[in-house]
Amino acid sequence: MGKPTGFLEFDRALPQKDAVESRKQNYQEFVHLFSEDQLNSQAARCMDCGIPFCHSGCPLGNVIPEFNDAVYDGKWEDAYNILSSTNNFPEFTGRICPAPCESACVLGINKSPVAIEEIEKHIIEIAYKKGYVKPNKSFLKTGKKVAVVGGGPAGLAAAAQLNKAGHDVVLYERDDKVGGLLRYGIPDFKLDKSVIDRRVEIMEESGIEFRTNTEVGKNVPASELNQYDAVVLAGGSTIPRNLNIPGRELKGVHFAMEFLKQQNQRVGNSPIDVEEITATGKNVLVIGGGDTGSDCVGTSNRHGAKSVTQFELMPQPPQTRTVAMPWPTYPMLLKTTTSHEEGCQRYWSISTKEFLGDAEGKLRGALVVDLEWETDALGRPTSFKEVEGSEREIPCELVTLAMGFLHPQHEGLLQQLGVTLDGRGNVQATESEYKTTADKIFVAGDMRRGQSLVVWAISEGRECARKVDEFLMGNTELESKEAVY
Ligand code: FAD
Repeated sequence: MGKPTGFLEFDRALPQKDAVESRKQNYQEFVHLFSEDQLNSQAARCMDCGIPFCHSGCPLGNVIPEFNDAVYDGKWEDAYNILSSTNNFPEFTGRICPAPCESACVLGINKSPVAIEEIEKHIIEIAYKKGYVKPNKSFLKTGKKVAVVGGGPAGLAAAAQLNKAGHDVVLYERDDKVGGLLRYGIPDFKLDKSVIDRRVEIMEESGIEFRTNTEVGKNVPASELNQYDAVVLAGGSTIPRNLNIPGRELKGVHFAMEFLKQQNQRVGNSPIDVEEITATGKNVLVIGGGDTGSDCVGTSNRHGAKSVTQFELMPQPPQTRTVAMPWPTYPMLLKTTTSHEEGCQRYWSISTKEFLGDAEGKLRGALVVDLEWETDALGRPTSFKEVEGSEREIPCELVTLAMGFLHPQHEGLLQQLGVTLDGRGNVQATESEYKTTADKIFVAGDMRRGQSLVVWAISEGRECARKVDEFLMGNTELESKEAVY
């Protein structure tokens, strides 16, 4: 424990952010770094609890008190080694993770939790600056060849671990650049794409081969995978939930990913080969209250939207802990995101009944109604009814549907491989084995667990790599997150 009285002396602090008006003028990250003094006092707040609940709160099993200690002592290389022993990509999670570790921080019971996510980001940024992040070349080659399909965080983590184990790894990605939703979902103002490029360069130097612009099951048949000793499927959960109400076909109603992907392509100078969608000068309605919805809010404001409104079907979550959501329950109470700080009218318990169009088939508004929710004994919402007389029209010229994802794409790759799907349409495999019903084919990330979080995708990629290594070699020396508990 760096400083036994640290949690009594220092309050939680977060780094400075650019002012709303200036950050809305561009797509750059706007959260600054702590000074070394600030970082030192934030790390000192860690109580090094006898049972560090943060370990199990983190899907990666990050050994948080240990790296906090190293930060407090200024031992940056140690801090980096501890952090990177459980997390391949702290530069991603340090920027965009909802930090379930902080929900589980014991200090959070009666004070604000340790700023773990920010400390993590600082450790990795300092590690890059000081040259600690080096290609992980394996000199003991196994002679086994592994294909990874999909270059999101799950595929990247699996590739990194399998390469480290000495296998020859080829990663197939259908987009022009790897990163998955980190690249073409999450906006640059939350995660600058140079952060992905920097990591991919190191992975290439480590010996991983990336084949972009290659959709397996379309540009190349799935039978191409037969040449490999094992395959990891990490294609994500890409089919969005639709809102099949009258007017869905109107010009101006789009899936959120159609809107977000284009903006990331624009910032990254990648070609856009579909009709461009802009929010400039429009009343924008974002339907869906999660991360995707808030990214639409931030992007619309940067386009210069006239107004931005966000609807959520569910009731507003409680702002204090409840019996149904006691410590250390995750998710944390729904916070206002930085995108909401930038301007947005936010409504809960509201349903959209119809999109309204003009004579030319262009969206001009939406017909909406308030909902009243029934709750169970613990206060959890169970069913709803419409509030009589609350039906009204609101003007909007752009709608983005951000209501989550159903399952991975079935046509092409999955159909050609003939893998069994689970009841939700994801690829069937248990969390302990990651093995599909097809010979030598494994699966990780959103394609297996359904839409989730980056930290879970990295965790699944790592755990799946262990299972593949065991399958190929009879045992594995790749780290297991279980080992840290
Ligand atoms: P993906 O990231 O979806 O990657 C799958 C990759 O596989 C894609 O690049 C795809 O092109 C490729 N692919 C698919 N099929 C093939 C094929 N046949 N051949 C070749 N390539 C193929 N999570 C957070 O933790 N924090 C956030 O702030 C956050 N914000 C989000 C914002 C948005 C807009 C969205 C949509 C999601 C967000 N998430 C966030 C969720 C997070 O991004 C995902 O859980 C995570 O990226 C899943 O990783 P994955 O590797 O399983 O899949």
